[in-house]
Amino acid sequence: MVIVMKPDASAADIAAVVGRVEESGAEAFVSRGVMRTIIGLVGDVAMLHGLNLRALPGVADVHRITAPYKLVSRENHPKRSTVWVGGVGTRAPIGPGSFTLIAGPCAVETHQQTLQAAQLAKAAGATLLRGGAFKPRTSPYAFQGLGVEGLKILGEVRATIGLPVVTEIVDAHDIDVVAEHADMLQVGTRNMANFALLQAVGEAGKPVLLKRGMQATIEEWLMAAEYIAQRGNLDVVLCERGIRTFENSTRNTLDISAVPVVQTSSHLPIIVDPSHASGRRDLVVPLARAAIAVGADGVIVDVHPDPQNALCDGPQALAGDDLLELAAAIRSLAPLLGRHTAGPPA
Ligand code: PEP
Ligand code: MN
Repeated sequence: MVIVMKPDASAADIAAVVGRVEESGAEAFVSRGVMRTIIGLVGDVAMLHGLNLRALPGVADVHRITAPYKLVSRENHPKRSTVWVGGVGTRAPIGPGSFTLIAGPCAVETHQQTLQAAQLAKAAGATLLRGGAFKPRTSPYAFQGLGVEGLKILGEVRATIGLPVVTEIVDAHDIDVVAEHADMLQVGTRNMANFALLQAVGEAGKPVLLKRGMQATIEEWLMAAEYIAQRGNLDVVLCERGIRTFENSTRNTLDISAVPVVQTSSHLPIIVDPSHASGRRDLVVPLARAAIAVGADGVIVDVHPDPQNALCDGPQALAGDDLLELAAAIRSLAPLLGRHTAGPPA
């Protein structure tokens, strides 16, 4: 069951609801969104109904949610949500009505490489900069990222370029340092079901980009989002990044139907990562076009000033002409789907 509080509900109103629920032996989880607070209840439904919570001051509505994910369910919040990322002056929306380009290097390698990638990204109309400082690599011998040094580089490049930063967190122990430097915390495919990490990012007070586990069903993915929401953070953006199938001509198989399926089940924004889905530069623009057409709220792509010498995922990185083609596709197609873009001038 979910309690929706009125926009002007006071802290005392919220505490009164939580108090009444806890006195009954059930549990209450408070999630504070930008517009309103919602309280997820766990306990016997008939007993919770008997508490007559609807009559308490500050309560706008009480919903019985049938989906196993409650707070992220569209049953709970029929209007699709927009998540805002970044500080004053650089805040970027991800959600219905806009089409957001997130671009940058797969991994932060040097200050200069990150700066050049960010310049390319910004020129293509990106409103958010991606870049991995902590890299979850399949091989322990592969480049693992610069760690905290990489976070510092991202902070410097943000100050120069003015784009909020999205970066991955791989270990709950790093939450303070990553949250200090990032505007949005990315949870990657390999960590989608790392429940301690999901709870940690749920408490960190920063928007979260939650990638789909490469072997996860959509329901498992939404349950992972629920872990974050249950810890008080409703600013979650989902990212379809391809799943494992028998097909081996691409790195993963982009499950494009996940976009409208998620949109009917959840109010959370959803974007597509055509770079990690395909692993192939030549497929990034066509798949990004598909993402726009299917109704995604944005794309996240790898960009590198010198893909040939990239330390991570060079074969899928865009540079130069491909990036211009992507920018042109977004500029021309997204408005046809009713999406506003922050694209570069034509
Ligand atoms: C990434 O975006 O850098 C990344 C590692 O992606 P994924 O978790 O989707 O593989
Ligand atoms: Mn990568």
